[in-house]
Amino acid sequence: MVECIVCGSSRPAEIFELVDVPVLCNQLWPDRSAASSAPVGDIHLHRCPDCAMIWNVSFDPDRMVYSTGYENALHFSPSFRSFSESLADNLVARFDLSGRTVVEIGCGDGHMLDLLAKRGVAEAVGYDPSMKSRETPFTEQAGVEIVPEYFTAGNVTRPFDAVICRHVLEHLDAPMEMLSDLRRAIGARDVPVYFEVPNADWMMRTVSMWDVIYEHVCYWTAPSISAAFRRAGFVPVSVAEGYGGQFLMVEARPGEPQPDWLPDNVSATLEDADAFSRTARSILGTWRDELTGRPGSAVIWGAGSKGITFGNALGKAGGMISALVDLNPRKHGLMAPGMALPVVAPEQLAEIAPDLVLISNALYADEIETRVRSMGLNPDFRIVAG
Ligand SMILES: [Zn+2]
Repeated sequence: MVECIVCGSSRPAEIFELVDVPVLCNQLWPDRSAASSAPVGDIHLHRCPDCAMIWNVSFDPDRMVYSTGYENALHFSPSFRSFSESLADNLVARFDLSGRTVVEIGCGDGHMLDLLAKRGVAEAVGYDPSMKSRETPFTEQAGVEIVPEYFTAGNVTRPFDAVICRHVLEHLDAPMEMLSDLRRAIGARDVPVYFEVPNADWMMRTVSMWDVIYEHVCYWTAPSISAAFRRAGFVPVSVAEGYGGQFLMVEARPGEPQPDWLPDNVSATLEDADAFSRTARSILGTWRDELTGRPGSAVIWGAGSKGITFGNALGKAGGMISALVDLNPRKHGLMAPGMALPVVAPEQLAEIAPDLVLISNALYADEIETRVRSMGLNPDFRIVAG
């Protein structure tokens, strides 16, 4: 029997499956044979009818062995960077953080810590075990510090005035433990928290199944994240969509845990989940039909989760694809898992001269088309997602 990881309901049902997907979609490999034999796992997404939580019941944390080459920084995109900059502006103003101490859980290379320090935050302390012995340019500002460990109530050594946690909660197979632990770390102080996760409501509405990846255990919907926060002892001040709808942004304050709290507005989300379930397969079929036997060559723009999941889901139909293009120089020269295709810099497109550019995220379509055309190339552009 499958039990909901947020509310404990015994009634979850399967809505989507993908088998033999790379367990680390963002793990790039040095050569073709390593990339084609990258470890795989299965995804069986279930949805809870009581709190509208969606998660992969087949997730096995033991398969997740992160190592060098793992790269998921989003801030190489100008769009994401400007989103983060306005977010930093807003958080500093709304939470009154000038001269204060902010903790970021899962800070990655510290890009957000740097933005906060530049806006007057006195101490910006990030926790991230993946930063062990990694260099980053984002700790130069006074007050910025990265602790290369998991954040726990047990290892917090000083009071803090706000908590930020972006793109972490979707990776956890026991999210309630993390939220309850954070609630313990906050104690009696009125410390605001800001959480940001991929928005599963958006993913289902747009039937963006390329966002379904093994690294993400949880696909948070507005009702389910509200339930998780209430049950762990937080009162959501706002649960909003941002970044073109792709992110769910939660601001909350500490309160009393409400361990039995359930959302009363799950029906629209459940309908979207069932529509997603019906439509995802037919969309994949359409892409396969369109690309099978198409002459010429193609590239996928975006060697992130969406691009790599899309390419792998195509299977044999993706045979015309010769490379993935990405702005992040740390990915160049490496191979994407599963499909085993190289990640190249935009400049290399002149050589490849693709007939088709498959854009893995619609948000970047304008900047990509402008850049490709400025190189004197005139391929077709197709948006794969969102
Ligand atoms: Zn539930």
